[in-house]
Amino acid sequence: MKTVGLIGGMSAESTAVYYQAINRRVRERLGGLHSAKLILWSVDFAPIAAAQARDDWAATGRELAQAARRLEVAGAEALLICANTMHLNAAEVQAAVSVPLIHIADATAEALKARGAARPLLLATRFTMEKPFYRERLAASGLPVRIPDAADRARLHAIIYDELVKGVIRGESKALVMQMIERGVAAGADAVIFGCTEIGLLLDPAELPLPAVDSAIAHCEAAADFALS
Ligand code: GLU
Repeated sequence: MKTVGLIGGMSAESTAVYYQAINRRVRERLGGLHSAKLILWSVDFAPIAAAQARDDWAATGRELAQAARRLEVAGAEALLICANTMHLNAAEVQAAVSVPLIHIADATAEALKARGAARPLLLATRFTMEKPFYRERLAASGLPVRIPDAADRARLHAIIYDELVKGVIRGESKALVMQMIERGVAAGADAVIFGCTEIGLLLDPAELPLPAVDSAIAHCEAAADFALS
C-alpha cells in the first residue's frame, strides 16, 4: 500500500471527514483490519483564511508548498490538499515536490461524469465560484459549471466561513442552500457539486432530487485508489 500525505486543517472539520473516509474505503477494499497509510500536516486555518480574505495567494502558496515539502520528506508518495479553495495554489504545491498532487477538481469531474452530469451547479466559497482556477479545470474535463447569483454566492460564502468551518450546523442554512439548489435547477443545472469540503457536513448528496457529488468524498476515493494502486 502507498502512503498518502494530507495537507489539512482547512478546515479541521472537513479534514476529520477525510481521515475517516479514506480509512473506510481502504478497509472496504482490503477487508479485515486494514486501514490507510496517511500522514497529516494540519495547518492553523486562521492565518490562511486571513490571507485569503486579503487576496494574498502568494502567502497561502508559500505555506502550502512548505507543508507539501514536509510531507514528502516524511514519506508521502502522493499529496492531497484537503480543500477546494486552496487548489488555487495547486501549481505552487506541485512545483515544490516530486510526488503527484491528486487534484480535487479532477476527482470531482470523474465522479460527476460517472453520474451522467453535463451542467453542474457549483456550490463553494466565493473564491472557488468566482475565480477561474476551478471552473476552468472542470471545463477542460468537458463540464461547464454554473454558479449561483451574486446574492446566493455571498450567502453561501458566509455560511461556510461563519458556520461550517467552525463546526456550526444550522437547519436554517441548510434550507437556504436547498433554495439555492432549486434556483440552480430552475436555471438549467442537472447536477450539484459540493465544491467546498464542508458542505457535506450540512447536506447529504443522497437527499437531493438530482445527482450530487461531494468533492471531499470524490477526493478521498481518488486517494484510496492511489494508495491501493
Ligand atoms: N474547505 C473549504 C473548501 O473546500 C473552504 C475553506 C478554505 O478556504 O480552505 O474550499
